[in-house]
Amino acid sequence: MAATRFEYVRNFEQPTTLLRNTWIVVRLDGHGFHRFSKEHQFAKPNDVRALHLMNASAAAVMREFDDIALAYGQSDEFSFVFRPSTMVYSRREAKIITNLCSLFTATFVMQWPQFFGSQPLSYAPSFDARAVCYPTIANLRDYMSWRQADCHINNLYNTAFWALVLDSKDPKTEQQAEAILRVTDSAAKNEILFTQFGINYNNIDPMFRKGSTLFWRKQDVEEVSAKTGQPVVRKRNVLATEYVDVIGESFWKENPHLLSRGKQRE
Ligand code: ATP
Ligand code: ATP
Ligand code: MG
Ligand code: MG
Repeated sequence: MAATRFEYVRNFEQPTTLLRNTWIVVRLDGHGFHRFSKEHQFAKPNDVRALHLMNASAAAVMREFDDIALAYGQSDEFSFVFRPSTMVYSRREAKIITNLCSLFTATFVMQWPQFFGSQPLSYAPSFDARAVCYPTIANLRDYMSWRQADCHINNLYNTAFWALVLDSKDPKTEQQAEAILRVTDSAAKNEILFTQFGINYNNIDPMFRKGSTLFWRKQDVEEVSAKTGQPVVRKRNVLATEYVDVIGESFWKENPHLLSRGKQRE
């Protein structure tokens, strides 16, 4: 196309590229999900349908962007980790976060009926997104630990809070529950759950306690051979969803490929 006299306006664009050879973490977070979860009658403290929908949306993102090593989700947020070697969109920040965020959001809306059945989506949800570069594996692991610690703290609080509010014998108001929990540490919250409600926190669904980690893993998969029609076992790259501890060493020892930086770029 011929250049026009208007084209100079392109020079006003300010491209931001993300530092090379660093891990890029993109975190999405639901906008106003406190209200969204109320409006859509999410079960409290944890709505399983919503968490599975978040995981399905994250899986769609991981299938589209193959430089993502792993993703971690809890509540209304998801973090996606790109390897240091990635040159996705030439590492242009706006391209990466807007494409990733809109694909996630569009999948969330498209797949809503698969998880919420006939319950309609009463307004369009949106997510914000940011990208942060981490230069070392230690920084990246601390980032993952930070999000999982946040999941644990919030979930322990929310589990105790909703147990007090939804107590069939002696329900507390939200203000009363807040006042009770304000002066408790985590041991005291565990104690309230156990003695007043018979809930052993450690037995709660690990998806709630640990959040969801999505990652690619080589796995034996049974298939039917196209040639012989017989069952065969093949190694395939499978997208795993696990509810595991990512703060300790064992997950990373079992999956060392997740921390390979890929080919460094000059
Ligand atoms: P902001 O727009 O600043 O992110 P927010 O209202 O989304 O505000 P967050 O701090 O992101 O606030 O918290 C998310 C809220 O969504 C929490 O209050 C939580 O109760 C609710 N929520 C998210 N996912 C679920 C779920 N699966 N089940 C129940 N509640 C959920
Ligand atoms: P990028 O991902 O870099 O934006 P792109 O394929 O989206 O690549 P654009 O420069 O954004 O490329 O161009 C949009 C393309 O979409 C055009 O080639 C145009 O043919 C097509 N397109 C967009 N809107 C319409 C429309 N309403 N009717 C027909 N074609 C359309
Ligand atoms: Mg939010
Ligand atoms: Mg949030």
